[in-house]
Amino acid sequence: MKNENIRNFCIIAHIDHGKSTLADRILEKTGTITDRDMQEQVLDNMDLERERGITIKAQAVSLKYKDYKLNLIDTPGHVDFAYEVSRSLAACEGALLIIDAAQGVEAQTMANIYLALEHDLEIIPVINKIDLPAANPDRVKEELMDLGIDPDEALLTSAKEGIGITEVLDAIIERIPAPEAELDQPLKALVFDSIYNSYQGVIPHIRVVSGTVKKGDMIYLMASEKKYEVDEVGIFNPGFKEVDELVAGEVGYLMAGIKDVRNCRVGDTITNYHKPASKPLPGYKKVQPMVFSGMYPTDNNDYKVLQEALEKLQLNDAALTFESETSEALGFGFRCGFLGLLHMEIVQERLEREYDLDLVITAPSVIYKVEKKSGEELEIENPSNFPEQNEIETVAEPFVKTYISLPEDYIGAVMKLCEDNRGEFVNMKYLDENRVVINYHMPMNEIITDFFNQLKSSTRGYATLDYEQIGYRESDLVKLDILVNKEPVDALSTIVHRDNARKLGESLARKLKEIIPRHMFKVPIQAAIGNDVVARVNIPAQRKDVLQKCYGGDVSRKRKLLEKQKEGKKRMKQVGSVEIPQDAFMAVLERN
Ligand code: GDP
Ligand code: MG
Repeated sequence: MKNENIRNFCIIAHIDHGKSTLADRILEKTGTITDRDMQEQVLDNMDLERERGITIKAQAVSLKYKDYKLNLIDTPGHVDFAYEVSRSLAACEGALLIIDAAQGVEAQTMANIYLALEHDLEIIPVINKIDLPAANPDRVKEELMDLGIDPDEALLTSAKEGIGITEVLDAIIERIPAPEAELDQPLKALVFDSIYNSYQGVIPHIRVVSGTVKKGDMIYLMASEKKYEVDEVGIFNPGFKEVDELVAGEVGYLMAGIKDVRNCRVGDTITNYHKPASKPLPGYKKVQPMVFSGMYPTDNNDYKVLQEALEKLQLNDAALTFESETSEALGFGFRCGFLGLLHMEIVQERLEREYDLDLVITAPSVIYKVEKKSGEELEIENPSNFPEQNEIETVAEPFVKTYISLPEDYIGAVMKLCEDNRGEFVNMKYLDENRVVINYHMPMNEIITDFFNQLKSSTRGYATLDYEQIGYRESDLVKLDILVNKEPVDALSTIVHRDNARKLGESLARKLKEIIPRHMFKVPIQAAIGNDVVARVNIPAQRKDVLQKCYGGDVSRKRKLLEKQKEGKKRMKQVGSVEIPQDAFMAVLERN
């Protein structure tokens, strides 16, 4: 049986192709929000998301159109959140695939098509921004044909000017299949997202696949093995709107006093405790952090504040992990785990903005797998814990497959960049006459340096990068240590390939010389592999007091200078007798 009056769909697009704008027009057209409430891009609701123009947390909304209930499920737009995307897609039967009429098919468009096909979704291609003078819908149609999508099915829209929106809504009803609805089967509901609210706790967003769920039911989370009594079920309207029950085929939320996000992870299956399903929905995966870095308050007194802030953020973010760690150089802080670099930046920014914390953050690291000669196996997520060279039998590091899309003029520059970063060429495909996608196998370790910035600058911003994990490989890696004033600074240690170690050591020492301010005494900086010093430079002693420059007289200028000096002190960390600015910890990432 099918639930004939429901359509569940998502919108997938390369960044900036108009997903949020089209979603807004759809909400307007269906009267889901009145004009007065209409704030641009309702679905992107965190400040950070607005500023960065990306969707971090997925959102869902139920719309009424003609006699149908349409559930629009938003998906996060960044590779760090690939698993969340896959669960959101699993909650749908169809997808609007948005392509910018001027930009055409991009790397992310292709990745999205593959994902949608993997989940058996009906794809409705939407060529957006047809109002632009540079719009070329015919060229986009050709590109679609090359990807095996029937160009005659493409709809033309301008989300900005509200053109073609009705056609999109009609296509959703006509082309996307109604959901299967096995009402008399035991409850199975997919958790595709969740939010945290201090009153109701964790509120899972669910797609009911079979059975029904209502207030008073005893539910059971199959992966977490936890049971709860349901306090409320409802739909997104776009706020919470309570309903009597959610039945197979529907999308909505439930509240059940779930206090800990870790007990209700994305991808889990909710069933009925008294009448359980025999097996969970496929595809559950516990997301694992891929990138780790140390977070330290610049003021050691803020340690407790940082801990509480991390605990609060974690309530809403099951992928964030942290545990306390001590650095000889930086004092007490936390080792935090993230899905990727963007996730790391988001957490950092929220800690600084919402909790007014001043942080020193160490360079991100992946997890290395080390087998010692003794046979002991270690997983190392903090370079300073890397064993001594002579104890190591093998080291393995995570590799990714990259999808880099770029105009063909830059092929040479990008291939060189990938090869300089230990990339192994896999293949290259033309998307059209002048755009290609290049695949490389690369160590994740190289991707989390400033690779992305270099990629952008060597293609004048025209390249895009995506990647997926492909597992661990053995590599000849060593730990590069930095000694400041003859003391090793553990937080500046990094893991690098042996062949590049000397060169990187030299350039890092040179950079630190620029970044670390002069002190009253000479500060030597050394880079070393084990006992082998590969580079050394000296920061000469400071000669004059900063105020001497003011020739005594001008008081306000003096004050300004002092204030400036004070500002500069922020984000500095006293290490032994030397003050090291935050930039130093990130300089480790620059690989040229
Ligand atoms: P998203 O990243 O896919 O969510 O894209 P947005 O909806 O944020 O749109 C990216 C940019 O393109 C914004 O500046 C929009 O105003 C603009 N935009 C979206 N749709 C259209 C359109 O149909 N025509 C034009 N000219 N601009 C559009
Ligand atoms: Mg958007």
